[in-house]
Amino acid sequence: MVIVGAGVVGTMHAVWARRHGFAVVHVERDAEPRSATVRNFGLVWVSGRRVGPELDLALRARHLWQELAAAAPGVGFRPDGSLTLAQRDDEMAVIEQVVARSDAGVRGVEMLDADGVRTANPALRGRFLGGMLCRTDAVVEPGAALPALRGWLTASGGYTFVGGRTVTAIDTGAVTDHTGEVHSGDVVLVCPGAEHTAGPLAELLAGAPIRRVMLQMMQTEPLGQRLTTSIADGDSMRYYPGFDVPALADMEPAADVVQRYAMQLLVSQRTSGALTIGDTHHYDEPFDFACDEVPYVHLAQRIESLLGRPLPPVVRRWTGVYSQVADNQVCWRNQPTTGVWVVTGPGGRGMTLSPAIAEQTWAEHIVTTR
Ligand SMILES: Cc1cc2nc3c(=O)[nH]c(=O)nc-3n(C[C@H](O)[C@H](O)[C@H](O)COP(=O)(O)OP(=O)(O)OC[C@H]3O[C@@H](n4cnc5c(N)ncnc54)[C@H](O)[C@@H]3O)c2cc1C
Repeated sequence: MVIVGAGVVGTMHAVWARRHGFAVVHVERDAEPRSATVRNFGLVWVSGRRVGPELDLALRARHLWQELAAAAPGVGFRPDGSLTLAQRDDEMAVIEQVVARSDAGVRGVEMLDADGVRTANPALRGRFLGGMLCRTDAVVEPGAALPALRGWLTASGGYTFVGGRTVTAIDTGAVTDHTGEVHSGDVVLVCPGAEHTAGPLAELLAGAPIRRVMLQMMQTEPLGQRLTTSIADGDSMRYYPGFDVPALADMEPAADVVQRYAMQLLVSQRTSGALTIGDTHHYDEPFDFACDEVPYVHLAQRIESLLGRPLPPVVRRWTGVYSQVADNQVCWRNQPTTGVWVVTGPGGRGMTLSPAIAEQTWAEHIVTTR
């Protein structure tokens, strides 16, 4: 099997290809992947998933991450859970309805008052009325997960990573990279992330219901204290379909700056102690080439109000772009040519869902059509 693109989606498909007994040649443009997968929070986020197949897939993916982490501990899986914090009564009302829903048990969510929040995560000493604890949320290390999985695949045999090669032609049974080298396989799987139009991708993805979304992120120096859960604020409830309850319609409108940058606060802690903080959503292309400072000021103030202390200095800022499929699908999965599959578009859920997406691609598509 030849896999193009070594972000988390391509890498998880390589894991499943090996499980199905295929030798894998994995061709990647960058010497070491530098796209969405290494720029994200590393959140394995069950709490926000839509009730139904998407939630089922997220729970399956969470289980698979834990299983993979046992084989490749470098992915840094931690079953820390999350707290979505409410600073206003209307946000508490949404949480109250979410935890009363029938899926609360499998999702592992419960409502906490302010004291309960401080007990669950002693680093939170700021201003909030309470929050939703989600025990099934988890976190992995975005900078370490891909090398850890590739190292494990390489050690298990039958896997070859070819980095620093841009694929310029894709056909049934073979892909060609920019050096002219041809990589042949029985199946070709293309996982190009948000690269929708370069070279052969323009034709493979023509007409696909996908768009690109750019986000702004930052990272601090180590906090000097462990965050025992990841953190989200009340604005995140507007983004995640898991919070789609009647009380959502009664929420006060978001602050102007939050609306302008389509913002929510998410915070995860790296194993170094640093905090990864975001995010904004930019939908209009061409994307700005620079990071805008206004949302960073808002996000810093917001997390400081929840922690009840100043943030450590911000030492890194970056943007990331993901590919997002439209119309309620989990990803864009298509076979444009015999034996050539394309999988992309999981949006802001790709880190979470990728192991289950790969499992599904193999079980429901590749295996059944061979
Ligand atoms: C800032 C940010 C925060 C996020 N936070 C989270 C989170 O906390 N939890 C979550 O679940 N999801 C999150 N996401 C979403 C998640 O990161 C993505 O859905 C996921 O990483 C997509 O993986 P991918 O492999 O499809 O794409 P990518 O990681 O973009 O990988 C695609 C790879 O294909 C390669 N490629 C492209 N074209 C070619 C070519 N012609 N030849 C060879 N190689 C090629 C690229 O170099 C790249 O390495 C976030 C995304 C962003 C941007």
